[in-house]
Amino acid sequence: MEHPFFEITHYINGAFVNGGRTFEKLYPATNEVIGSVAEAQADEVDRAVQAAKEAFKTWGRMSAKERRPILHRFAQGIRDHFAELARIETYDVGRPLSENSIHYIERAAHNIEFFADFAVMHGSEAYPMDNGYINYVLRQPVGVAALITPWNIPLLLETWKLGPALGFGNTVVLKPAETTPIGAWKLAQIADEAGVPPGVFNVIQGFGPDSAGALLTQHPDVKLISFTGETVTGKAILRTASDTMARVSFELGGKGANIIFDDVDMERAIKVSLRSSFLNQGEVCLAGSRILVQRGIYNEFLERFADATTAHYRPGDPMDMNTTLGALNSREHLERVERFLEIGRKDGNIVLGGDRPDLPAPFDKGNFLNTTIITEANADSDVCKLEIFGPVVTMMPFDDEDEAIHIANDVEYGLSAVVQTGNVGRAVRVSSQIDAGTVWVNDYFVRDLRVPFGGMKASGIGREGGHYSMEFYTEMKNVCLANQ
Ligand code: NAD
Repeated sequence: MEHPFFEITHYINGAFVNGGRTFEKLYPATNEVIGSVAEAQADEVDRAVQAAKEAFKTWGRMSAKERRPILHRFAQGIRDHFAELARIETYDVGRPLSENSIHYIERAAHNIEFFADFAVMHGSEAYPMDNGYINYVLRQPVGVAALITPWNIPLLLETWKLGPALGFGNTVVLKPAETTPIGAWKLAQIADEAGVPPGVFNVIQGFGPDSAGALLTQHPDVKLISFTGETVTGKAILRTASDTMARVSFELGGKGANIIFDDVDMERAIKVSLRSSFLNQGEVCLAGSRILVQRGIYNEFLERFADATTAHYRPGDPMDMNTTLGALNSREHLERVERFLEIGRKDGNIVLGGDRPDLPAPFDKGNFLNTTIITEANADSDVCKLEIFGPVVTMMPFDDEDEAIHIANDVEYGLSAVVQTGNVGRAVRVSSQIDAGTVWVNDYFVRDLRVPFGGMKASGIGREGGHYSMEFYTEMKNVCLANQ
């Protein structure tokens, strides 16, 4: 099969540049080399930050109303390139094209225009004093934002940061994950064509530790760091930020519970659980990767869910619109997930999957793994505690609300949960007691960009979305005005 070959560069100060050093981009579905990627060194990181710093002098002073049409053209450009971006996400991630067409690309455009509009609509507070003086509050952009993103849903997560960063008047240096460089490079082209001024949005390609990512977060001219990725990386960045005093917002790992009570609509619960378990090959921080089922319906749910999973998730060529299960993002990651399967076999039972599918060439060389259900592992097994980040769920029974809540909360993460029940009172009670930044009741992955998004415990620091993004991406200033 013929694939395009991508010559992926940085985008610095409005120019697509390659400093000379490169690394290979592999297609997760076949492990063929489909691109050559520029690898940023310290001088490119510095040039990108300096370009952003310079551009901030004008972009940061423009009004939100002046920035809005430029950002709307950027969002429209994303829509105009829908088909190309959908294929790029598949080349980057390994996810089926059929899934891209439904979810992620439109959301990328929406992320940009939502915050462009939000920035225009927002006013600020005033505090009149008894003596006639007036205090008012200005919200001003902060400066150069470093945006560091992971490989699982790149376009969505990159624009989720870019939208508010640019909308509120900051300038940006984005570093995408090393295995998913194509989308960010394409976004830069679209922004360039839309007239985003040089230096306002820069992209540097490269690796994380001791490399482009770390150099970017260490840079003294970076004033904000918005990071999505693993908790351990967040800790490393937090140590760095203690030197520069950059403000941070972290969206980190998760190990969400999907709690199913015996009063549930079983058909619906199966449908919701198919998505919360295996969307994007299970490589979703928000996945409901621990399915907890009330004992009375446990056996029936397990059997019907396993059948539905087999019927729905078909691995294969991700560009084929009939494929519903893609490849994991890298061979290294596949092997990491397979190490969890070993633990699952030892600590419990693998009742579905647990192996690689038998696919024809060239997909036999890809990073595919069958959808997997592990049962009978204790709550303290690593498969129940740690983030696996693949098409693997654990399932266990519980007796009552208290036990379900206890198991759900008994992990270091607190990002999201799903509660499925036919009883509104129970939904309210259980949701209020779960340690999670987001709880979905009887559905999954429904997003409203106005709400606070982020995690408790080891799943993050801060919230983004709506005015929570505004709080992160703006600096507040109190002006006290005398009346004489
Ligand atoms: P990762 O932490 O390994 O890498 C994320 C990004 O950070 C990459 O661009 C990487 O190059 C960079 N990086 C790595 N080390 C760095 C360092 N020391 N300094 C600066 N940058 C560094 O994460 P990943 O494996 O790409 O992504 C998977 C993780 O992301 C999972 O844990 C998942 O739960 C999490 N995630 C969280 C959310 C959320 O909203 N909470 C969303 C998606 C993914």
